[in-house]
Amino acid sequence: MDVVESAAACRETLDRARATGRVVGLVPTMGALHHGHTSLVARARAECDVVAVSIFVNPLQFGDPDDIARYPRTLERDLLVCAGAGADLVFVPPVTEMYPSWPAPPATTVAVRGVSDRWEGASRPGHFDGVATVVSKLFSIAGPCRAYFGLKDFQQLAVVRRMVRDLCLPVEVVGCPTVREADGLALSSRNVRLSGPERRAATVLSGALAAGRAAIATGERSGAAVARAMRAAVAGEPLVDVDYAVAVDAVSLEEAGAIDDPGAVRLLVAAQVGPVRLIDNSGALAAADDTSAAPDGTTQVRQLERIG
Ligand code: AMP
Repeated sequence: MDVVESAAACRETLDRARATGRVVGLVPTMGALHHGHTSLVARARAECDVVAVSIFVNPLQFGDPDDIARYPRTLERDLLVCAGAGADLVFVPPVTEMYPSWPAPPATTVAVRGVSDRWEGASRPGHFDGVATVVSKLFSIAGPCRAYFGLKDFQQLAVVRRMVRDLCLPVEVVGCPTVREADGLALSSRNVRLSGPERRAATVLSGALAAGRAAIATGERSGAAVARAMRAAVAGEPLVDVDYAVAVDAVSLEEAGAIDDPGAVRLLVAAQVGPVRLIDNSGALAAADDTSAAPDGTTQVRQLERIG
């Protein structure tokens, strides 16, 4: 496995692979890798000839300096994880490789209007501009490829898909199921910052999604009523401060009014739990797009799903 810090070295390696007809898979991450990330690498490994993982804690997508300062960084371990998961190349650029003028922000940024505006975008101004900018740079460096993203960050996936479409980028975006702990908590690099009681309380996020699905399964067709059922599921947990719990159109991310087709609806939830902002989401039908982390470290895919 090659580990490179320079964009030129990364591009050259992947260009060489493509020149011999090989398909490149790219897995962008911010490190602190867990089974959610390795599920993406495994999927890329299964579907591509060459697998590149990027590890870059992108300062442009953090509004809160405290959040980036506390973001877990475990590079040595991450490289072992990448090797174990079958990566061929890990791209680990220093900040100035991605943003030469840093701490001055780059003059050119990418904004994906509309889909970036609500939910995470509303609560974290500038966040998705930072995401779209760094992902477009990674796509530019990696070249034509398949790029693997988690459904866990559903709005991010929607933003990236829209950007690829609007800018005609030569990238096939693949959405991969959310990997969860046995009690339903979606794996996240931020979970390590939760105290014991906060960690236990955090399960109400997936509980809210289950409550939304249950409401729909029993015939509820009002988006507002589904959202109320989701909120009710978290209301009794004092350690969880809900930001939003909503049913939305899975493509536009606009709040659902009357739900004609539950298959076209996504349930989204975000909350502050102690020091950490957590997000989660699911389809409105069964928990079909989830994967659970097995105790042996492998993942058990219940069902794969591609959105869009
Ligand atoms: P991050 O390092 O948090 O930026 O995440 C890198 C990629 O891993 C993104 O595409 C995330 O959506 C994905 N990811 C994070 N957590 C999970 C999870 N629990 N299951 C599946 N994918 C995930």
